[in-house]
Amino acid sequence: MTAHIRPDLASIPAYVPGRNFPGAIKLASNETTVGPLPGVRDAVADAVANANRYPDNAAVALIEALASFLKVEPANVAAGCGSVTLCQELVQITCDQGDEVIYAWRSFEAYPVVTQVGHAVSVKVPLTEDFGHDLDAMLAAITDRTRLIFVCNPNNPTGNALSKAELESFLDAVPTHVVVALDEAYFEYSRSDADGIELFRSRPNVVVLRTFSKAYGLAGIRVGYAVADPEIIVALGKVHTPFTVSAVAQAAAIASLAAADELLARTEGVIAERTRVRSALIEAGYTVPESSANFVYLPLGELSPGFAEASTEAGILIRQYGVEGVRMTIGDPHENDAFLAFANTDVAKQAAGIGVTA
Ligand SMILES: *Cc1c(COP(=O)(O)O)cnc(C)c1O
Repeated sequence: MTAHIRPDLASIPAYVPGRNFPGAIKLASNETTVGPLPGVRDAVADAVANANRYPDNAAVALIEALASFLKVEPANVAAGCGSVTLCQELVQITCDQGDEVIYAWRSFEAYPVVTQVGHAVSVKVPLTEDFGHDLDAMLAAITDRTRLIFVCNPNNPTGNALSKAELESFLDAVPTHVVVALDEAYFEYSRSDADGIELFRSRPNVVVLRTFSKAYGLAGIRVGYAVADPEIIVALGKVHTPFTVSAVAQAAAIASLAAADELLARTEGVIAERTRVRSALIEAGYTVPESSANFVYLPLGELSPGFAEASTEAGILIRQYGVEGVRMTIGDPHENDAFLAFANTDVAKQAAGIGVTA
């Protein structure tokens, strides 16, 4: 006898770790390039000294720090082991078997997985021609089975950001019993006027998701948070796997919030590099949509696998999305230069179909 496993899980690909090798330039995961600040390291070391104790399951100190930072009430905040677990918990609190979750596609790869694992059904709405959310089509996709809508702003992997006005008119048109998750993992890199924390205040069905993994540089420590009406926050607590936000994660997040000015100032450098990289790629002949995040997207279509492979051969790891495109994280200037040097080679241009006449 073999163990009975849910047959539908067969359609979820088993996790395949990205390729890595010594000396590789890692531009595949939207990480920051710098390690934690000394004060954050100290807080982590102190937390490690008490590692024999369970963490505070309610993350009281972190929730209070977040609430005062965001100017909301502690009852509006939930912490998670990365915001990806909060995505999963949102499906769990909203969906029964067969209920529908709407999101744009391409978008964050976790959405289809957490939806299916939660016994719900994905309704994927194609991006617009310029790689942004098609909010009208998303509204049109709402049915009486819709329970949750993810809006990834700026969108991963395409970088496109929605404006406040676009989001407001969308939110005003969504039935109030449908939960809308504004996934703002890259909020700190965006200079759009859309700020979920402003939008959720008058809308009890809006949840804002943010993370310490990207601009705050704590991807390896795993902590993110949700901001919403207390009713949603209480429900998230019910499905939360106990103690998944470790004491180390809580301490690191609190120390990082205390250093927010210094950490957020770094986003200016990333944005300057993003602008420089995008211009250089366009000059080299690539199509590059405008990005409001710490990455750029190259819609190479069926040429994507070959281009990603050539980039890996050149020692630079980027992320490939099937036969749609590739995403390159903005790294340090010398790393970006290495990618640009590759992108200007004949090998890369040939892989990208540049200069090829039909
Ligand atoms: C990186 C990312 C997250 C969250 O990452 P965690 O490390 O789990 O906090 C959430 N949404 C999007 C779109 C992301 O790219």
